[in-house]
Amino acid sequence: MTISMARNDNKDEILRLRLRMTAFLLSHCTLIMHILIYQFQFGGDMCGIIGFIKENCLLDVYKGLELLEYRGYDSVGIAFNYCNQTKIIKQKGRVKDIKPKLNGYTSDIAIGHTRWATHGKPTEKNAHPHKCRYFTIVHNGIIENADSLKEGLIKKGYKFLSETDSEVIAVLLQDCFTPDNILLGIQTALSKLVGSYAVAILSEYTPKTIYLAKKDNPLIIGKGKDFYCFASDSPAIVGYTQNLYRMKDNEIALLSNDTIELFDNNLKKKKTVFHKTYLTVDNINKGSYPTYMLKEIFEIPRAVKSTINYLKKLRDIQNTCNFKDYNSIIFLGCGTAYHAGLFAKSLLDGVAYIHTQCITSDEFLYSSINLNKKTLIIAISQSGETADTIGAIKKAKKSDAKVIAITNVPYSTITEFSDYCLLTLAGVEIAVGATKSYATQLIVLKYLCGKICGSNKLINELLPQEIQQVLTFNRYIKDFVYKNDFENLFFIGKGVDYQTALEGALKVKEISYVYSDASPAGEIKHGPLAMVGAKTLVVCIITKEIYLKGCLNAVNEVKSRGASVLVISPFEKISANQITIPKSLENDRSVLSVIPLQLLSYYLSIKKGLDPDKPRNLAKSVTVG
Ligand code: GLU
Repeated sequence: MTISMARNDNKDEILRLRLRMTAFLLSHCTLIMHILIYQFQFGGDMCGIIGFIKENCLLDVYKGLELLEYRGYDSVGIAFNYCNQTKIIKQKGRVKDIKPKLNGYTSDIAIGHTRWATHGKPTEKNAHPHKCRYFTIVHNGIIENADSLKEGLIKKGYKFLSETDSEVIAVLLQDCFTPDNILLGIQTALSKLVGSYAVAILSEYTPKTIYLAKKDNPLIIGKGKDFYCFASDSPAIVGYTQNLYRMKDNEIALLSNDTIELFDNNLKKKKTVFHKTYLTVDNINKGSYPTYMLKEIFEIPRAVKSTINYLKKLRDIQNTCNFKDYNSIIFLGCGTAYHAGLFAKSLLDGVAYIHTQCITSDEFLYSSINLNKKTLIIAISQSGETADTIGAIKKAKKSDAKVIAITNVPYSTITEFSDYCLLTLAGVEIAVGATKSYATQLIVLKYLCGKICGSNKLINELLPQEIQQVLTFNRYIKDFVYKNDFENLFFIGKGVDYQTALEGALKVKEISYVYSDASPAGEIKHGPLAMVGAKTLVVCIITKEIYLKGCLNAVNEVKSRGASVLVISPFEKISANQITIPKSLENDRSVLSVIPLQLLSYYLSIKKGLDPDKPRNLAKSVTVG
């Protein structure tokens, strides 16, 4: 027996749950969460930090930077100890361009950074690391009082080389340096900062140590067999180790070759307890696939299987969260996660005693919805770092509502702020467009909604095989895209299929920049039909028999305006262009029907020569509000 959800507000229960979880090897994951009520800054931190203390680790830092690329960045840099001095290599542009510059160097201690500029243009000068005499830093976040601090430091004779707010940290560290107690100097410097930071520090005074500190920005330390590493995002290091420690605000950690020392903000020593994370990464490389996105679509059967196995072990949801205590459920999410929430809402429609809503996290922040202790929030975020969703959770917590988080990343910020957590076991997802994480979100939500309604049919063991069958349409979809030229796409469907249509339209926009929209099938004649012409593809999803007649009407309406039609359905021979998915269980057809839409968006992108893994203007984890 395994437990997946735990309450935060009852110490005895937590203890009991902890013991039980230990017994079942799941105590090491992120299932006990702490409600930390502190002001979260919506600072720009779509950038990343990575670092290693490990023999010959420059390539490891480089690979980590590659893994952080999906967060979005404009410049990149590495600092490392070389002959007892700190060597810095940095530049504007892509991570891959820094690789040749590392040739000829080796180092056992290095820190790296991908910057997403908030203060100062994306230039080489502004790229991190920043150095002041003997101190070098990389920083995620925003130092709000940088200008006034700078003013004081300039008066003392310090010179600033960049326009960033971050450089002030390096200068302050140097200014506060005390030869007999370097830690005290670091603590003094940090205490002067107002704002948010995750910061990694190298000092030429102590060339074998890395100092780490954080406030309102994530920083995760990994403990390997004979090394330590750290990153702003656990996916960047789980390929090296699954033993993780998520730093708490105002802590300072000292990493050296084989030890870690942790201090609170009074410099009192603390114990570091590493936990084993669920998050796995089968293969950080693309393997035989040309892109992460295609690889991740083909990983859906495995991701779904892992998630099903995880859910099968859960038995105690009702013990830890009694759904009868709530009369209102609000699903929250952004983008694809919002669509997963819509799917879940549609599963609960008709459950008489619960009022359900699904709102994008940002809209929720501005809404005047009545929240109280009878409100259950179900917040969905692949990365667990989505700023809008974290903000929404904080708002909900202020009103006594309870929060269940659904995330793919244990030890993410969202898990800290929620009362309960359920995981998707999709493994690390690198491509910006969510694919396998969406499929697993649907599985977890179907399970959760089933529990809420007291249903027994929660798990379909055959689903991974059924997904494999859908994936055999890969070639068909590719040929379909390459044989045709579409100017715009409409995704239509009824009921739950309309949610899938929304996700299809979003995926096409995100990955291929082709104009796409979604419409309930019956609504197309009330407006969208005006946009339909000979260069339009209408994708119609029909997973329930009751939708057939209405959808066929819509299909005929668009066909007679010259549009091409592609039907996704378990019912055969509806259209000449059709992807016939397995019949499966009715509620699982949403998982099966979205996969062809993901492949469709993928090939539209590839056909245009785009990189589907890194669509323009988008980041994988949107950590700005
Ligand atoms: N505020 C800092 C800068 O603009 C750090 C931004 C980041 O988190 O990448 O350089």
